[in-house]
Amino acid sequence: MLFETLLLNFLFLLFPVVAFLIFFENRTVAFNQKALVLLSAVTMILCIAKPFKLEIGFIFDLRYIPFIIVALFGGFKHVFPLYVILNVCRFYVGGEGTMQSFLFATIMMILVPLYSRRFVKLSSKRRIAWATLTSVLAIGFYLFTLSFSRMTVDWQFWILALNAVTTYAGVTCVIMILIEKIISNTKSRERLMQSDRLNVVSELAASVSHEIRNPLTVTSGFLQLLNKSRTITQVEKEYVELSLLELKRAEKIVSDYLSFAKPQSDNMVYSNMSEELEYTKNIILPYATIHEVEVNYSFNNTLNKHYDQNQIQQCFINLYKNAIEAMKETGGGTLSIEIWEKKRNIMIRIGDTGIGMTKEEISRLGKPYYSTKEEGTGLGMLMVYSTINKVRGSIEVKSEKGKGTTFLITIPT
Ligand code: ADP
Ligand code: MG
Repeated sequence: MLFETLLLNFLFLLFPVVAFLIFFENRTVAFNQKALVLLSAVTMILCIAKPFKLEIGFIFDLRYIPFIIVALFGGFKHVFPLYVILNVCRFYVGGEGTMQSFLFATIMMILVPLYSRRFVKLSSKRRIAWATLTSVLAIGFYLFTLSFSRMTVDWQFWILALNAVTTYAGVTCVIMILIEKIISNTKSRERLMQSDRLNVVSELAASVSHEIRNPLTVTSGFLQLLNKSRTITQVEKEYVELSLLELKRAEKIVSDYLSFAKPQSDNMVYSNMSEELEYTKNIILPYATIHEVEVNYSFNNTLNKHYDQNQIQQCFINLYKNAIEAMKETGGGTLSIEIWEKKRNIMIRIGDTGIGMTKEEISRLGKPYYSTKEEGTGLGMLMVYSTINKVRGSIEVKSEKGKGTTFLITIPT
């Protein structure tokens, strides 16, 4: 009987995990969070409905496992609805221990979310360990308080308590392993898709920019010849010169925005990136001054790396430009540029105090043509991701709406 109840309860706990995998993977983050809280609530109710009933009148169930997991991942905001549902159900069921259960749930709801912020930043393995530990501590504490309110606390009680603790630990651990596996699968698929996208774009850009550059060169060559002709009138000469200027602009657009193309061998350098950061900072300085943006910088890196100098410069310019544009709307701010070394990695941080982004916006960064600006191309960040991808680096974005954005780039050497 006990074993069957355990299996049944385990099935209840699996239910949100499986439902998430099948139905919600491709929805928005906010929708997913709500759906998961709802599913956890269902699980909790099912757990309460089918508790473990032991001979000596000892009843316990696994309802606190979804509660703890939601509290750890979602924090106070998401566990509160669960807390309400849990207590409504418990009061509805009534009976002995209702008050204790209420008090216990309240303590948990206040304590567990306190380290939720730190919890979500931990590594996968640590999260599994922490969740299991929390679960053990919680149920341990619960049993401990229970032992005071009971008249007969004999060895039988403690053996049952031990069983309860191991069940909680085991089940939490297994569920956490499943959750972490889903998270890591989603992440790696995301990364794969992004790198696929970049490959397609850079292939396309390479051929397009090549195909366009040739006719541009030929046209501008003939126009220059025409310009030297003796029979050409003054007005015609002006037309030709205007055409040449426009051609030059087209060429510039091609080389600026379509430089996702494969690294060109004559641009390859072996250096420490500080020079490029410094050079591009000087280029962008007038633009920053116009928009009342102060530029802070510190360059401390001696590690070297092979890279395409033009692309890296373009990449930094795109990041600086976005940062300044984000601060333009708030009437100025500070752009900070840092480069340093850490365990054979080149670390670059570019931060602004601009408008910032929501989580949703961050997740769309780097997708082609994603832009929130009127005259934006939505190609800048794509180029940034593509370039950093090419030097096997990674980009971490931290942003808060209204506060600012920080790009942390890690490039292994
Ligand atoms: P564009 O600058 O042409 O709009 P990008 O690819 O450079 O295209 O940027 C895409 C979008 O990402 C921008 O429109 C903006 O909404 C957002 N973004 C990029 N960098 C920042 C930043 N530092 N602060 C706030 N939003 C940013
Ligand atoms: Mg841009």
